[in-house]
Amino acid sequence: MVTLDKLSSEELMQLEDRYGAHNYHPLPVVLTKGEGVYVWDVEGKKYFDFLSAYSAVNQGHCHPKIVKALIDQAQTLTLTSRAFYNDTLGVYEKFVAEYFGFDKVLPMNTGAEAVETAIKIARKWGYEKKGVAENQAQIIVCEQNFHGRTTTIISFSSDPDANTNFGPFTPGFIRIPYNDLDALAEAAKQANVIGFLVEPIQGEAGVYVPDEGYLAGAKEICSKNNILFIADEVQTGIARTGKLLAVDHENVKPDILILGKAISGGVYPVSAVFANDDIMMVIKPGQHGSTFGGNPLAAKVAIAALEVVTEEKLAENSERLGQLFRKEMNRIIEKTDLILKVRGKGLLNAIIVNDTEDSKTAWNLCVELKNNGLLAKPTHGNIIRFAPPLVMTEEQLMECVAIIEKTILEFKK
Ligand SMILES: *Cc1c(COP(=O)(O)O)cnc(C)c1O
Repeated sequence: MVTLDKLSSEELMQLEDRYGAHNYHPLPVVLTKGEGVYVWDVEGKKYFDFLSAYSAVNQGHCHPKIVKALIDQAQTLTLTSRAFYNDTLGVYEKFVAEYFGFDKVLPMNTGAEAVETAIKIARKWGYEKKGVAENQAQIIVCEQNFHGRTTTIISFSSDPDANTNFGPFTPGFIRIPYNDLDALAEAAKQANVIGFLVEPIQGEAGVYVPDEGYLAGAKEICSKNNILFIADEVQTGIARTGKLLAVDHENVKPDILILGKAISGGVYPVSAVFANDDIMMVIKPGQHGSTFGGNPLAAKVAIAALEVVTEEKLAENSERLGQLFRKEMNRIIEKTDLILKVRGKGLLNAIIVNDTEDSKTAWNLCVELKNNGLLAKPTHGNIIRFAPPLVMTEEQLMECVAIIEKTILEFKK
């Protein structure tokens, strides 16, 4: 019998602790199954997932349409490499380029790879189209950015955890405050600037929503100075913030768009970089690539995942439930000193806990939320991100609000 061999949560956590690198500090819950907005632990307890794998599972866990696409393609053809053509890549490229309104897509696997790809395209464009002198290109980035974990990307991070003792760092980046158009205008005047890489909402930093007009203003500054506006929508994209893309809130069209996470519904690692021909065509055969990038499984999974976004109107649902969620959180905040505020867009939200940054209050609150059947995780310091799958119903959301309310009101520091 399988059940006799089944390991307990405690045993499974010990295995990870003993044999896995300690590069994460998970909440003490061991999951074994997911369906829609729910996940179950190995002891059979059911939870609402309020992280959605950092917004990779916007379509809900194990969405049947996406899983079917994966299984069907897995039994047919999984990987050819790009040494040969295959019968899924071009179909996917047409579908996804039209879906997001760009001439072309460059397919990769993870978010960080897509960011690296965007940096490489932007630099090459800078040298070959803008005429910047060799090795002099500069890209403007923001304080508290999160764009991934590669050596180049952490080179321009302001988070000491991300970059301490990982140098020497890649040069070519200018860091300015987020949500500061004057700083951007100033930095844009510097020589050899070729791009501005920005998250439309800073997710990892703690769901920092910039002022209205920031993205449109930034795009205008970029256009004026012949600088590429590069939007990292790995976390904010694919309906998370109540529109297909977060830049859509301000009708901004990025020169380069970076997507990952929910482009596959969390079923398989898929990422993508979009640009029009005048930019994308600077990349010639042999100059960039990935063995798995754009493989047939990824292609079929991503098509299914994006069809789900449209068919199930996830952007509309995210917008509507997001309004309701913030209204309910504000109602709870009236009743307690423990939470200072709620902020966010669509179903990407965070609450700010009233305690010092280094306190364990947010963590302990998440442990209590877990005990009450809802999984969320602190981001930086005392901020708890709330990002459920976008397939949530209003009834389910109100159940979650009740759990959050009970947990907050009963919480003892
Ligand atoms: C998660 C994330 C990345 C990195 O994606 P990985 O798939 O983890 O490499 C990049 N940018 C943003 C904004 C993200 O949220």
